[in-house]
Amino acid sequence: MAEQTFQNEINKRRTFAIISHPDAGKTTITEKVLLHGQKLQKAGTVKGKKSGQHAKSDWMEMEKERGISVTTSVMQFPYREALVNLLDTPGHEDFSEDTYRTLTAVDSCLMVIDGAKGVEDRTIKLMEVTRLRDTPIITFMNKLDRDIRDPLELLDEVESVLNIMCAPITWPIGSGKNFKGVYNLLTDTIIFYKTGQGHRIQEVDTIKGLDNPALDQRIGAYASDLREQIELVKGASNEFDLELFLAGELTPVYFGTALGNFGVDHMLDGLVDWAPAPQPRATDGGDMIGAEQPQFSGFIFKIQANMDPRHRDRVAFMRIVSGKYEKGMKMRQVRIAKDVRIADALTFLAGDRAHVEEAYPGDIIGLHNHGTIQIGDTFTGGEDFKFSGIPNFAPELFRRIRLKDPLKQKQLLKGLVQLSEEGAVQVFRPLSNNDLIVGAVGVLQFDVVVHRLKSEYNVDAVYENINVATARWVAAKDPRKLDEFRRKAESNLALDGGDNLTYIAPTMVNLNLAQERYPDIEFMQTREH
Ligand code: GDP
Repeated sequence: MAEQTFQNEINKRRTFAIISHPDAGKTTITEKVLLHGQKLQKAGTVKGKKSGQHAKSDWMEMEKERGISVTTSVMQFPYREALVNLLDTPGHEDFSEDTYRTLTAVDSCLMVIDGAKGVEDRTIKLMEVTRLRDTPIITFMNKLDRDIRDPLELLDEVESVLNIMCAPITWPIGSGKNFKGVYNLLTDTIIFYKTGQGHRIQEVDTIKGLDNPALDQRIGAYASDLREQIELVKGASNEFDLELFLAGELTPVYFGTALGNFGVDHMLDGLVDWAPAPQPRATDGGDMIGAEQPQFSGFIFKIQANMDPRHRDRVAFMRIVSGKYEKGMKMRQVRIAKDVRIADALTFLAGDRAHVEEAYPGDIIGLHNHGTIQIGDTFTGGEDFKFSGIPNFAPELFRRIRLKDPLKQKQLLKGLVQLSEEGAVQVFRPLSNNDLIVGAVGVLQFDVVVHRLKSEYNVDAVYENINVATARWVAAKDPRKLDEFRRKAESNLALDGGDNLTYIAPTMVNLNLAQERYPDIEFMQTREH
C-alpha cells in the first residue's frame, strides 16, 4: 500500500520551466498558470508591474526597482489530477547560469514564442541547453490577440531554426481583432475566445466538429477559411507522437494569448497528459537513479541568499531525484561525507514558503544553508555517489571589482566567494596580483553584485572595465605538464571561487595561441561541479 502511494505521488508530478525570449510573455503565463492552479484568487500578482504589487518570487530591491526577476523561484500547485512544480527562470535582458542550471532540475519545458516575432535569440540559446538532455518541449505561440505572423511560417521557423518537429495541437482562427479562438486537431473541437476574461478562468464555449454547420452560423466566412487551412495544416505538419515528444524530437504546439488567458489551460492539459513524470538522473559513475528507488537522493542546483530579508538566510534548492523526504530525516552530504538531519526544509506552494512534512521525486525543497552547501552537491540516504551534469559555464563578461575602502578587503573576498558559491557570478583571483575579477554571463549581474556587497556584506565596491575576453578552466592528465604550464603562464592564470585553476585570456587570439602552445593542457568552457 505504502509503495503504491509512493508510486502515485511520483506519477502525478510534473516539474517544468518556461523558456522564452524577454517580453514573450513568460511572467503573464506564469500568472495564468497559477490562476488555473487556483492558488491565486486573481491572476496578476506574480510581477505586478502595473498594479504595484510585487511578485512573491521577486524578493530583492533590485528586482523591484527594475521590475524584473533576477532570481529563480519555485511554485508548486495542483492542476487536475497532477501536482505541478514550475521553476521560474530569470529571463530579462540579462540572465545568469542559474537559468541553465535550473534546466537540469526539470523534466520538461514550456517554450513561449511571441507570435508576432517568432523565434528570438534567447530562445535559441535556451533550447540549446535543453537539447543537452533531450528535454521534452511544449510550445505556446503567444499574443494571438495581436496580429501575428502566418502560423504555418511560425512552425517552419521553429522546425528549421530550433531543429525540432512541430505537431500543432490547436490551430488559431484569425488573430488580432479577429481572433476567434482555436480548433483542437486531436479532439475536433472549436474553442471560442472571449475578450475581457484575462483575470478569471473562462467558461469553455465550444462547438464539436469542424463540419458542424453551427460553426458557419457562428463565425461566417472564417469557418470555410478554417476548413481549408486545417486541410493544409494536416498535410504540411506532423501528427503528435508521444514517443518523439518524450525523446525531445517533436513539440506539441498550442496557440493562445496569455494576456487574454486563452489557451494556457490547453497547454497545461498537454503537460499533465504527456509530459514525463520525474525522470532518472545520471551519476558520475554512469548509473541512472530512477525516481522509484526507495533510497532518498537529490542534488543542489541553486543557492539563493537572503530570500527573506527578516531572516537573512541562504537557501539551497534541491531537486529530489529518488525516495521520499520526511521531516527530520537524515541525509548524507556526499562531498563532505557528513550525515545531516534536516528538520526544516522549505517548500514553495504557489510562492509561499511553508515547512514541508514530506516531499517526493520531482519536488524542490529548500535547505537552510550556513555556508556548507554548494551548487552541485549530492545528498543521499547514505550512499556515496554524485549526480553529474550540473555545469558551470565560462563567463563571457568580466569586470575588476575595486573597493572604496581598502580596509574591507577581507569582507569583499568573503562576499564574492559566497556569491560565487551561489552561482550568481564567478570570481577569479589572479596568481600574480591582488586583483579581484568577476565574471558573469549577463551584464546586469555586476550591478547585482555591487548592490548585494553593500546590503549584505556592508562593503562599498565599484566595478571597472578590465581587459579580459574569456576564461577557460584548465587541466592536464600529466601533473608535471600542469606544473610547467602554471610556471610559464602564471601571468594569465587565476583561481576561481572553488580554487580551480583558470586561464584568463585578454583576447581570443591569445587563447588560441595558448592552446596551440600547450597541447597537453585541456582548456574547458564548462566545468561540472
Ligand atoms: P516576460 O518578459 O517574458 O516575462 O513577458 P511579460 O509576461 O512580462 O510580458 C511582456 C509584455 O507583453 C507585457 O506588457 C505583457 O502585458 C504583454 N503580453 C503578454 N502576453 C500577452 C498577450 O497574450 N497579448 C498581448 N497583447 N500582450 C501580452
